[in-house]
Amino acid sequence: MTQASQPIIVQPIIVQDTFTGTKRELLFREPGKCGVYCCGPTVYGLCHIGNARAALVPDVVVRFLRQQGLQVKYVRNITDIDDKIIARGQADGVPAMEVAARFADEYHRDMAALGLLEPDVEPRVSGHLNEIIALIERLVARGLAYAAEGDVYYRVSAFADYGKLGKRRPEDLLEGAGSRVEVDARKESPLDFALWKAAKPGEPAWPSPWGEGRPGWHIECSAMCGTHLGESFDIHCGGRDLIFPHHENEIAQSQGAFGPGTFAQYWLHNGFIDFAGEKMSKSLGNFFTTREVLSLYDAETVRYFLLTVHYRSGLNFDVCVECPACGVELDRDAQEAGACAACGEAPGREALRQRVRFPGLEEADDRLAYVYAALAGARRLLAAAGAAAPAAPAGPGPLLSAFCEHMRNDFNTGGALGTLSRPLAEVNSLVGLVKGVDKAARLATLAAFVADMGQVAAILGCFGADPEAWLRDRRDRRAARAGLDVPHVEALLIARREARAAKDWGRADAIRDELAELGLSVQDGADGSAWDFA
Ligand SMILES: [Zn+2]
Ligand SMILES: [Zn+2]
Repeated sequence: MTQASQPIIVQPIIVQDTFTGTKRELLFREPGKCGVYCCGPTVYGLCHIGNARAALVPDVVVRFLRQQGLQVKYVRNITDIDDKIIARGQADGVPAMEVAARFADEYHRDMAALGLLEPDVEPRVSGHLNEIIALIERLVARGLAYAAEGDVYYRVSAFADYGKLGKRRPEDLLEGAGSRVEVDARKESPLDFALWKAAKPGEPAWPSPWGEGRPGWHIECSAMCGTHLGESFDIHCGGRDLIFPHHENEIAQSQGAFGPGTFAQYWLHNGFIDFAGEKMSKSLGNFFTTREVLSLYDAETVRYFLLTVHYRSGLNFDVCVECPACGVELDRDAQEAGACAACGEAPGREALRQRVRFPGLEEADDRLAYVYAALAGARRLLAAAGAAAPAAPAGPGPLLSAFCEHMRNDFNTGGALGTLSRPLAEVNSLVGLVKGVDKAARLATLAAFVADMGQVAAILGCFGADPEAWLRDRRDRRAARAGLDVPHVEALLIARREARAAKDWGRADAIRDELAELGLSVQDGADGSAWDFA
C-alpha cells in the first residue's frame, strides 16, 4: 500500500457543529472517507421549497468533499410510514403506502429537476422494520425503553445527556410539559417519546414483539443511520427545525443503544426559508411548493439563488404579485385583502399564485446569464484559436483556490460565489477586447478560467450546462413570459438578412428598429444573426 493511493486533504475543512456550538475542524473517522446522513422527506404531499433547501445543503457538502478527494457515502432516507401519510390516505381514500409511493416519486422528480445527486443509499422505513425493532429491543434491554399497552416509549430520564443538542434542560422541559393539560397515562414521564405505536383499526401495521403497530418517527432515522453508516459516522445534516426534538431523540436512541460518543460526530443544520420577510399574505397562502417555483423559474436559477446565502442563515424570498385582471402590482394591503384597488377584481388564490414573481430569483437569473455569457465568450475564443489554444492547466488556478477557501470555511457558498466577481469581470473584458492584448496570454487566462469553472460547476451543480444552449433557453423562457410572437421575430430576422443580401440598407435598418421596439437586439455572427433581449 503506497501513500499516494490515499486521498490527501491538503487544507483543513472547518464546520460549525450544532452539538458543541463551535467551529470545528472536520476530522474523519476513517482517513479519506466520510459518511453523511440527511433526514429526507415524509412523503405525504409535494415538497415545499424549504425541503428543497434541506436536501440541497448536503448535496453541495457531498459534492465539495468529493471534489476535495474524499470518498463519501451519502445516505438520505424517505419516511414512508407516518401519521401524516396515513391521514392523507384516509382523506383521499387511498392506501397509505400508495400515497407514500406516489409522493416519493414526486419528490425524486423535484430533486432531479434541481440537479441534486442521487444519494448512494436511499433507505425507506418500510424496508427497515426488522432493524427498527431490533434497535427498540436493544433499548428495552438496556433499560432505556419500556412497553406499555402495545406502545413502546423511550425513557428520557435514563439518558443523562438528553437536551444537549437542543440546549434544553430536562427539568425545564418537564416544567413546560406539566402545564399542558393532557398527560398520557401510559408514559412514565411526559418527556418520554414513542418508539413504537400500537396500530389503531384501519391503519397500516407491522408485527412486533409488542403487537401489531408501526415505528415512531425518530427511531426510523437512528435505525437507518446504523444500518447504512454504522454505529458512528461523520456528518448529520438537516433543517434547523429538526434539532429538537427529532435529532435530540436520534442521539438519545443511538447513543443509548451503542454508548457515549457514538453516532454523528458533526451536526450541520440549515436555516429556514421565509417568503415576503415574515408571513405571506392571507390571500396567497403560506408557502410555495418546489414544483410551483420551478414552474415559474429555471431550476438552475432556483438552485443558484438558494446557494447565494450561507446554509445556516435564513433565506428570504421577496414576493411580488400582479393583478391577473389588470396587471397592476398589488401592494401589501391589496394582497392582504385579496382584491385589486385599481380594477376592483378579487382574484382567487390560485389565480394570484400564478402571477407571483420572486425578484430575488430574477436577479439570480440575470447573474447566471452573466456567468454563462462569460463562459460562452471564453469557449468561443478558445474554439476559434483551434490548435493555438493552450491545454487546460493541470492544477487549480487562482479562481478555484479562492473559491475553495470559502467552501472550506463551513461550506460558505455565498462567500465562494463572491470570489467569482473579479475573474468574471476580467474574462468579460478579455472577451470584448479586439486589439492591444497579448493573444497567448489571453488564451491562457481563458483556458484557466474555463477549467476552474468546470470544477466550480461540479461543486455547486451550477454553471455546468452548455452556455450557448442555456442562454438560448433563457431567451425563449423570457419570450414566452413576455408573450412575444417568436415566429414573427424569426420572420423579421429572415427579412433583414434578405435585405442585407440585396444591399437594401434602409430596409435592413428599419427592421432592426422594429426589433428594437420589441425590446430586442440582433447580433450578427459568423454563422448568421441571432436575436436576444436588449
Ligand atoms: Zn431524521
Ligand atoms: Zn386589477
